[in-house]
Amino acid sequence: MILVLVGPPGSGKGTQAALLAARCGMIHLSTGELLREARLRGTPVGREAAAYLDEGRLVPDDTVAALVAQRLRPGPATYLLDGFPRNVEQAAHLERMAAETRHAIEAVVLLDVPEAELVRRLTGRARADDDPAIIQKRLAVYVRETAPLIDHYDAKGLLRRIHGRGAVKTVHGRILRALGLGRA
Ligand code: AMP
Repeated sequence: MILVLVGPPGSGKGTQAALLAARCGMIHLSTGELLREARLRGTPVGREAAAYLDEGRLVPDDTVAALVAQRLRPGPATYLLDGFPRNVEQAAHLERMAAETRHAIEAVVLLDVPEAELVRRLTGRARADDDPAIIQKRLAVYVRETAPLIDHYDAKGLLRRIHGRGAVKTVHGRILRALGLGRA
């Protein structure tokens, strides 16, 4: 089974994905983390990704899809995808990979946070791509490329929209309830 977590930069996607995966024994795949690790290790993918990461642009679809494909295996595990897909082309990649590995895409959780709150949260972080100009770029990329996924998955009946404001535990509880997994 595959669950997808979608949200703008600063929505708490990574934090919530880690909590949910730990609580429910899911395999957490964060493409952002995989790309940052690849970069630190100096692999070919990491070297290719570096400029995109620095500029807040999306790494090419085939590269990111390959990172996910290498990790997705048939079987009973539940995969929690954090940060993938990021556009409609990647969603098509995911649908193919899911069919090949016989996993159903069970739900897509959207973490909804107003833009002013996102900027406030991101300026308080210390990641290299959290520079103010890059933050604006990443938000614009989200609106242009990633937001269209909301309608895409809503039309399939998969979208679960979550209010992303509030304490980490509160948001975690909302996600669990939206997925029918009980209370935090
Ligand atoms: P994240 O950790 O999800 O905020 O991602 C950080 C950065 O990694 C993004 O700004 C992109 O440059 C890159 N990235 C992460 N996931 C993807 C993806 N699915 N497709 C393309 N680029 C990605």
